[in-house]
Amino acid sequence: MQNDMKTPLLASAASDASEPLPRCPGGPVISIIGSGDFSRSLAIRLVACGFRVVVGSRNPNRIDRGLFPDGVDIRSQKEAVDSAERVVFAAVYPEHYYTLVWLRRQLAGKVLVDVSSATRLNSGEQSNAEKLAELFPESRVVKGFNVISAWALQAGAHDGSRQVLICSDCSTSKDTVLQLARSMGFSPMDLGGLCRSRDIEEAPLILFPSWGGPILTTFILFLFFYGYNSLRHILLPYLDKGQNNIHQLPLVTMNETLPAVALVTLALVYLPGLVAAVFQLCRGTKYKRFPHWLDHWLCRRKQLGLLSFLCVVLHAVYSMCLTLRRAAGYTLLNAAYHQ
Ligand code: NAP
Repeated sequence: MQNDMKTPLLASAASDASEPLPRCPGGPVISIIGSGDFSRSLAIRLVACGFRVVVGSRNPNRIDRGLFPDGVDIRSQKEAVDSAERVVFAAVYPEHYYTLVWLRRQLAGKVLVDVSSATRLNSGEQSNAEKLAELFPESRVVKGFNVISAWALQAGAHDGSRQVLICSDCSTSKDTVLQLARSMGFSPMDLGGLCRSRDIEEAPLILFPSWGGPILTTFILFLFFYGYNSLRHILLPYLDKGQNNIHQLPLVTMNETLPAVALVTLALVYLPGLVAAVFQLCRGTKYKRFPHWLDHWLCRRKQLGLLSFLCVVLHAVYSMCLTLRRAAGYTLLNAAYHQ
């Protein structure tokens, strides 16, 4: 076993990084510093994919070994780092990175994977991966795996998100981690150098990244048409004839607004295609980039179409409610008449 540990298990920095990692029970030893949720899920996934895993904890005797799959070795942080031939995951929070500085010598030349995420958007601060690279100048820091939750890691390749964003300044180390992610059943995406790590760290914080513009546009259209219909059917009759139609606001006015919003949103789905065609005709070529605003608009057509569909569905529901209300009104009137 000891001798096994000494043989190079992952390709060395100089070797061909595109060479696939062997996937057998005696496969490469991957170390994980930290024994929390992420470490546990990562260990489960790595073992399932044929890697040997050594988890490094501050206090290995306190860890409930039943939480980790069979075959996972739980050692001290130093022993875990020493066991890893090449790849070491830092599965601790960034505020605890400084506690690992004493392992600097052991981590020298190894691929240190930073899996942390940002806690705030657009903070303008240095990324966690860059801070880690400053703390460990002799290690090859690679950013990745933070967009995969502990749950998705355990769920396997068939469930949850499969895309893993990866970046690093060391291309050989990055290739090793890209290959590792592929071996684990993920779809790795190379985002370039470590300067992109902030984007990767912020990725889990961005909810529905391409929906902001379309939702805002639909909301503004809704406000415009709702205001116009309220003015026309509520305020003007009141000022003109003293009619109080305020009860129409939640159902009737809403139902008049929704199809107008749906139609204009649908028009916004098809309009950019026509504008793009005009651009191409004017330029005499289709091999030129569209202006940024048009590019952006073209990329949001699917979202606009779905929002238009949502308005249509709501319109159908409101129409049905109005019909039912009218039918109930007639039933009551009929009952009163018979009485
Ligand atoms: P966690 O369950 O709290 O585990 C963190 C581990 O760090 C602990 O088990 C502990 O291991 C170690 N630790 C705690 N305090 C420490 C200290 N003062 N000094 C040194 N080590 C300390 O957290 P986690 O959910 O596994 O997250 C770990 C990292 O993964 C974070 O950076 C997080 O952003 C990232 N991540 C997590 C998820 C997720 O779904 N959980 C997803 C993506 C990324 P020992 O006691 O064994 O040393």
